[in-house]
Amino acid sequence: MNCASYLIPVPKQLMRSRYAAFVLGNVDYLLKTWHPDTRPKDFKLGRARWLGLTILHADGNTVHFLAAFHSGNKGMLLEETSRFVCMDQHWRYVDGDCTVTPIKRNAPCFCGSQEKYKRCCGKADISHPIPPQSTNTALRIHSRRRRFIEDMGSR
Ligand SMILES: [Zn+2]
Repeated sequence: MNCASYLIPVPKQLMRSRYAAFVLGNVDYLLKTWHPDTRPKDFKLGRARWLGLTILHADGNTVHFLAAFHSGNKGMLLEETSRFVCMDQHWRYVDGDCTVTPIKRNAPCFCGSQEKYKRCCGKADISHPIPPQSTNTALRIHSRRRRFIEDMGSR
């Protein structure tokens, strides 16, 4: 069995699961799916609140995506083309070319709510309900879920 097998998740699926791991703070999973040559020795997740992921294109061993996050008081948009390699019958994240730009306050919110960003996830305190899955293929994991899990963990 090699990475062409239908039993092995393709890089796009790995990208999604790694994004979920960022949202949920699952450092073990991130390290496990990182290529040993590029895996950081001392990796800690920052305090970013992740708002959503949109995969723009996936082809062979690369995945081009947008991921929005809040850091400090600012909304930022990460655009990256990630590279993956197949190793020991699993795809692993190697590295990527990325740019990070501020999210415009009047832009449509990244979560798909149809609201302006400043009235939605751009607020310091999010109060809108989690929007239903929209029609594109984006995986959206609202940061609220993470808070929920943190609440559960502290009980
Ligand atoms: Zn929103």
